[in-house]
Amino acid sequence: MQVSNNKVVSIHYTLKNNEGAVIDESPKEQPLQYLHGYGNLIPGLEKALMGKSKEDKIDVSIPPEEAYGIRDDNNIQKVPKSQFEQGVEIKPGMQFQSQTEAGVQIFTVTSVEDDQITVDGNHPLAGETLNFNVEIAEVREATDEEIKHGHVHLPGHEHH
Ligand code: ZN
Repeated sequence: MQVSNNKVVSIHYTLKNNEGAVIDESPKEQPLQYLHGYGNLIPGLEKALMGKSKEDKIDVSIPPEEAYGIRDDNNIQKVPKSQFEQGVEIKPGMQFQSQTEAGVQIFTVTSVEDDQITVDGNHPLAGETLNFNVEIAEVREATDEEIKHGHVHLPGHEHH
């Protein structure tokens, strides 16, 4: 069975940046499962997996435009300290989730001044070329319910 839309695909993967550092990897005994064709993976990786089969291995280098986008300086904002929860010491490198029109966005604190905090709303991997080693562990048909929801249902897991 080949990877195509409405298939549930299980992959073992290692993700490295251009310096060769491992940024992320799937746990050894627990491949990542996703429903193909619903934007559950970054576009460049879905494209590279299309048409592949169980046990196929791919090495693919994905430019930022097909991964988490290019960095946009307009996503860097200064926020008054009063908008943050009181009693929490804000430090550079801390990350916050915020509900925006585009969904949940992650902000990273880049600097803290007297009354102002600078936050960067770019995805932490924006601007990065992502280098994936992937092995396909399994390809199966999705259930009707999975297709309706647009995501995979793992046995024994609560889902929305
Ligand atoms: Zn669901």
